[in-house]
Amino acid sequence: MTSTQTTPTDQSTTLKSVDPATGEVIATYPIADVDAVRAAVAKARTAAATWGALDYDRRREHLLRWKSRLVAESEDFCALIHRENGKPLDDAFLELMLAIEHISWAAKNAKKLLAPKKVAPGMFMANFAARIEQRPLGVVGIIGPWNYPVYTPNGSIAYALAAGNTVVFKPSEFSTGIGNFLAEAFQKANPELPEGVFVSINGYGATGAALVQSGVDKIAFTGSTATGKKIMAAAAENLTPVLLECGGKDAVIVAADGDVKAAADAVAWGATANSGQTCAGVERVYVDKSVSAAFVAEVKRILTEIKPGSGSDASYGPMTMPSQIDIVKRHIEDALKNGGTAVLGGVESVKGAFIDPVVLVDVDENSEAVQEETFGPTVTIRTVNSTDEAVELANANKYGLSSAVYSKKNGLDIARRLRVGATSVNSVLAFAAIPGLPFGGVGDSGIGRIHGEPGLREFVRPHSIAVQRFAIPGMALLSYTRTDSTMKLLRKLVPVLHGRNK
Ligand code: NAD
Repeated sequence: MTSTQTTPTDQSTTLKSVDPATGEVIATYPIADVDAVRAAVAKARTAAATWGALDYDRRREHLLRWKSRLVAESEDFCALIHRENGKPLDDAFLELMLAIEHISWAAKNAKKLLAPKKVAPGMFMANFAARIEQRPLGVVGIIGPWNYPVYTPNGSIAYALAAGNTVVFKPSEFSTGIGNFLAEAFQKANPELPEGVFVSINGYGATGAALVQSGVDKIAFTGSTATGKKIMAAAAENLTPVLLECGGKDAVIVAADGDVKAAADAVAWGATANSGQTCAGVERVYVDKSVSAAFVAEVKRILTEIKPGSGSDASYGPMTMPSQIDIVKRHIEDALKNGGTAVLGGVESVKGAFIDPVVLVDVDENSEAVQEETFGPTVTIRTVNSTDEAVELANANKYGLSSAVYSKKNGLDIARRLRVGATSVNSVLAFAAIPGLPFGGVGDSGIGRIHGEPGLREFVRPHSIAVQRFAIPGMALLSYTRTDSTMKLLRKLVPVLHGRNK
């Protein structure tokens, strides 16, 4: 692996996009410095006046045109995703398909879900009509990761646009071409719109930091928890609100009555697909002792056949980010040092950018391999004595992104006890493919939600409006003309209305 892409210096003015399978340079992009970032935000600010003033139906048309343009260009786009990110072509297509579903959902639901709402004014303000209207925030800065370079940032991009905001998007330095393709497709599909409705800017962390400081109206970030914390601290200087979608260490619980074959199939895929580089992928499993041996044997059987590569027969691709390879290796070493046994693979499975599946059993729960995000095609499996123990161990982690439960009778009950943002019952990652379900975590996994109604509400501010319909003589509560008799009446009314615990 000869990647040179990860070593920017302060003087770097260009960024090289690299094929992670070969180290070959795909393209070179100018890096946006502070001035270029401010210029992009200014362009988006101007465009916000036009885009924000359109009604929901018009914005829906523009978003749906973008969606069909992505479908028309899907072959080229998937080839680029495969090349720049490393994932197999089929996985690239699945990712694009899911993103398109979300564009469609946000475009079609924004009008209904963000519609103005009347609220009851209450007895003392009965002469008023009260309503809540949703206003776009203005310009949203979006900073993305590389692992799902379309699906993940799109969870903010499509929803921010549908809510009436313009977007300045900084893709990950490992998926620059993909990010630019997404923004250019929007512009090509909508040539009559001002250019600043959805623009991308390129660069490393410094460009992202400049975007955070640029006066945007919200930052929507997806990436590591460490970067999320830096962004939140920087955004606090201007009270810029943040949406943070960060890391995970997701657990699967296989109960005594779980379908062992189905659970093993899901765990094998959920742990290794996309080379394990999935924020909500399977990293830990807690399996009941009555089915543990059969489950471990089945996971091993399936993964023995699974191989990484770059060809059309590969199950998954290379590690996209070279620095992650050492972390995966360190976690495997740590697991083996801390009482774990590798029932499939081991340290030798880390062969440069391509890492074979590794299955580790009964690793110490306090070890790095169980507590920290590994982000590689590895999984730890612990045998437990009861569902209670499984729930306790699953929850004993600083992350709380998602989870899965396998149980024929108690899936929903077990799901409700997990400290996470999402759970799939008798499946893995299903919530991520259902556009109406919000996605996001608790604890170190982040703040806020993308997708679904909460995902639209992240990008609007409620505007409360109280309209006086008529004046009630002598009852002007908000005026110096208020009379003593009005106050006497209120003193009698309040105990009647609120003096009892009813
Ligand atoms: P990262 O934190 O290294 O980088 C993410 C983005 O932040 C990149 O665009 C990067 O250039 C930018 N950045 C870096 N420093 C910055 C700074 N100081 N200010 C502003 N921007 C800065 O993360 P990554 O390696 O690209 O992504 C992998 C991580 O993302 C994993 O932890 C994964 O779990 C997480 N992730 C989370 C979700 C989710 O929805 N919760 C989805 C996908 C990935």
